[in-house]
Amino acid sequence: MLKRISTLLLVTLILFGSLSAAKRPKNVIFLIGDGMGMAHIYATMVTNGNKLELERCKHVGYSKTYCANRFVTDSGAGGTALATGVKTRYGMIGMNPDSVAVESILEQSDRNGLATGIVVSCAVTYVTPATFIAHQINRKMYEEAAADYLKTDIDVFIGGGRKYFESRKDGRNLIQELKDKQYQVAFDLDEVKKINSGKLAGLIHEDQPPAMPERGDLLPDATMVAIDILDNNKKGFFLMVEGSQIDWGGHSNDIDMIVREMLDFDKTIGKVLDFAEKDGNTLVVITADHECGGLTLVNGNMNEGKVKAHFSSKGHTGIPVPVFAFGPGAEEFTGFMENIDFKGKIEKLLKLK
Ligand code: MG
Ligand code: ZN
Repeated sequence: MLKRISTLLLVTLILFGSLSAAKRPKNVIFLIGDGMGMAHIYATMVTNGNKLELERCKHVGYSKTYCANRFVTDSGAGGTALATGVKTRYGMIGMNPDSVAVESILEQSDRNGLATGIVVSCAVTYVTPATFIAHQINRKMYEEAAADYLKTDIDVFIGGGRKYFESRKDGRNLIQELKDKQYQVAFDLDEVKKINSGKLAGLIHEDQPPAMPERGDLLPDATMVAIDILDNNKKGFFLMVEGSQIDWGGHSNDIDMIVREMLDFDKTIGKVLDFAEKDGNTLVVITADHECGGLTLVNGNMNEGKVKAHFSSKGHTGIPVPVFAFGPGAEEFTGFMENIDFKGKIEKLLKLK
């Protein structure tokens, strides 16, 4: 009898143990749709036959995007909040309001021995990716942001922005410096796709990559290459992926561009979720830095997959943006959040010091 009870106890302990262990992710993939509000998502869903990959995320919330000195933020302060957990001043990169550098979740992951990566559909030196790796008082310091990549041990970064590494005012050749640091440097997507281990710098456009459809599968393909490489690290990885140009469609009040860029981002999300589903140890978090365009849908037709868009702004707005999460720890990302809450939550789930 006593033996049976102790066996039962042991089985219960093992069950609880595995349950609580399953709650902690090993890897985190953080996807940011720049300027992606609810209307951007719904317009794309309607156009796409009333469905999107991101609907596979059953944990949903909202993020409040205001920054330290303005109600309506930009990608500098917005990205800094997501990356570092600090509300800072409009236009700043990876610094607090007193212009002191603050560590990003990517840098912290790196310091804790995780593999790290950035994949974007803009220049890797542009605003959102810069907030995860650079510390500059001004978002336009692209050459400085390029040099900041060399100060880290980031394993993979893929996007545009080759010229900020190569044709610089300070005369440094950062391509050579990357090679000296054992990076494989690739200048087009085919080259990028051949690499599945080691360190990779994919600088596949001189400056900004073109918009969809000219850009092709840069974002989904480069994201899967990054995951393939980062997943070699037994301790886990942190990867930031940005759908960078959704925002640009918002600024030009171009609903067709928004939908094309959103479909590219959603295709990437689908591939990431396929990996996370199979892996079982990967947390996927999807959100935006702010809304752009003040977009609303004043009419539409479900059967025809059409929407009538109305924009109230050429810039960003202050409305909270949606949050979607999938995988172990996803339940942490529900309800109303501040944009500075993501870093702490991820840090806790990954047990980073
Ligand atoms: Mg951006
Ligand atoms: Zn913008």
